[in-house]
Amino acid sequence: MRIYPRYIASASPHVRPDDLATCVSCGLCLNDCPTYRVMDDEADSPRGRIQLIREMVATSARPQASTVEHLEACLVCRACETACPSLVPFGRIMEGAREEIALRSRPAGLREALRARLVDLVTRPTLLAFIARVASLYERTGIGRVAQRVLPRRLARMESLLPAPEGAPFVPIPRPEAGAQLLAGCVMRAAFGDTQRATVRALERSGFTVGSPADQECCGALHAHSGLGERARELARANVRAFAGMGTVVSTAAGCGAHTRSYGWLLADDPAVAEAAADLSRRVRDASEVVTAVGAPLPRGVRVVYQDACHLAHGQGIRKPPRDLLRMLSGVELIPIADPERCCGSAGTYNLTHPEVATELQRQKAGAILAARPDVVVSANPGCILQIRAGLEAAGADVPVVHLMRFLDDPAAVLSSQA
Ligand code: SF4
Ligand code: SF4
Repeated sequence: MRIYPRYIASASPHVRPDDLATCVSCGLCLNDCPTYRVMDDEADSPRGRIQLIREMVATSARPQASTVEHLEACLVCRACETACPSLVPFGRIMEGAREEIALRSRPAGLREALRARLVDLVTRPTLLAFIARVASLYERTGIGRVAQRVLPRRLARMESLLPAPEGAPFVPIPRPEAGAQLLAGCVMRAAFGDTQRATVRALERSGFTVGSPADQECCGALHAHSGLGERARELARANVRAFAGMGTVVSTAAGCGAHTRSYGWLLADDPAVAEAAADLSRRVRDASEVVTAVGAPLPRGVRVVYQDACHLAHGQGIRKPPRDLLRMLSGVELIPIADPERCCGSAGTYNLTHPEVATELQRQKAGAILAARPDVVVSANPGCILQIRAGLEAAGADVPVVHLMRFLDDPAAVLSSQA
């Protein structure tokens, strides 16, 4: 029996009956859901998960373990939003449901406490910068190759995803009057310093002055995806204050961009910041939407695969601007791949919490990319870059995988260094 609750027993402010009522159970999203395709279970499809959430919030009981399992197995890739003709806001429904699960699971068990700790750790730029430096040393000394042979499977997988840093970490320079304000990010700031500096150059070439507030925080996307709603709202409030009254806020990470665009909705019930949060959401742009000038042309023809990040394509509807920028570089041949918008399995911490599904999606993505015989793979999200790099490496391929802004800035350098 399908349940359509009019009143819901929800402690999370983000589980809303109107959102839950949008799904008409047509099933048109099923074939586009990566977890349904891999796990072949209705409860691991968007329609099945929405029904589980409806049943969960119809009472205030602690959710069953199987419900939690199916809801946690969702990538929050939002491919179902693209497929859904009824405009179901699945991303925010799932974030609300996970917060609800966390609130009803108090006191938190060891697993929940460990997840909260993991999210907290991976969103600290200083700690990430330290890990990135260790990862670099690790690679240079060859310990990484040895570790892959001797570590147990799960640890070897974590090791393969360590972000070897691009140069020094990015240091935000505050210039409140600048027209473009860079969202520094956590992983982007610590491990993708060269990409962030390339983005600043690209914005300057496109006529912007560029700043980046020193007091900005992690955007909170990983916290929201993990059910840590209160912490996510705290971080959102801090960023609303940090970017108040400034110009365009530029994101270089699809997940951060999609999440900051949702601040208006996230903080709509907080009268102290609701208006400023909505204003910030309206000012957020992906770098590919504002950059208009590219670097030096390529000396030869280069086959490029552009990998759509889920939170850029499904989360923000951005598909054309990155491809248009790549086409502006003379010498670039854009090669399409099969299922270009299927998740690569990265999805925040998903590749650590659900390694089997993540590895299968990674294997499928690497296969689709290698079938296109690219010279380089370009994406606009750090998680996808790390996941695809590891996937191509596991497949025995030596193809550089870099951020769009870094490639546009100096494509020849990327190709010669095999970054
Ligand atoms: S989420 Fe959308 S596409 Fe999927 S079953 Fe519900 S209404 Fe249909
Ligand atoms: S967000 Fe992705 S994994 Fe989750 S139900 Fe939708 S399509 Fe499936």
